[in-house]
Amino acid sequence: MLVIFDIDGTLCRTSQLDDDCWRLAAREILGISSMSTDWNDYPHSTDESIASALHERVHGVEAGRQDIDALRDRFVSILQEAQETSQDQMRQTPGASEFIARLRCEGHGVAIATGGWTPSARFKLQSCGIEHESIPSAFACDAHPRADIIEIARKRAIEQGVHSGNDPSVVYVGDGLWDLIAARQLGIGFVGLASGQRESLLREAGANDVFPDFVDAERFLEALRETSP
Ligand SMILES: [Mg+2]
Repeated sequence: MLVIFDIDGTLCRTSQLDDDCWRLAAREILGISSMSTDWNDYPHSTDESIASALHERVHGVEAGRQDIDALRDRFVSILQEAQETSQDQMRQTPGASEFIARLRCEGHGVAIATGGWTPSARFKLQSCGIEHESIPSAFACDAHPRADIIEIARKRAIEQGVHSGNDPSVVYVGDGLWDLIAARQLGIGFVGLASGQRESLLREAGANDVFPDFVDAERFLEALRETSP
């Protein structure tokens, strides 16, 4: 089985900080005084796509590479500044590192597919104490649709030898409705990582298993096995 994880709100408790960094970067670079951070409102819940949509909304023309890069660079530096100001803003979801280790120990493949940009995503993982260098990963710069990013992560897992191309058991673990939708588009399994309103949204959309964290590793593993095709 290959288990592919989202980052914000899933491996890392960084969703609120991520929203705050987006608001600040959009205000500074694009002069946007208020923007939605409900990522369901955008064509795709991934940073390159959000940046393109915001640029087009403000300037009325398609964003060029340098426009996107300027937003990304400012976003990353705001995130780094926030971390320097207060070191404990970024925490991993309880049990995340242990659960990744357990999966690997039991012979399962682990990969990461995030809607975040590469530098910010890696910075978050590092700040949260999640070892990520050896995990096959795909980011916002790889594709706009989340489903495509997940598919790229799956291919990288095969290339890097952590998953067999003949094994159809693939599960995505995420916190957003967009994560569930992407998993369905790909015909792979899905397990939710959410509580409160996000959990309700996922359950209403048909998610069978939604966990608040990774602490109950036994039950989480069971849910992964049950949902994997
Ligand atoms: Mg997320």
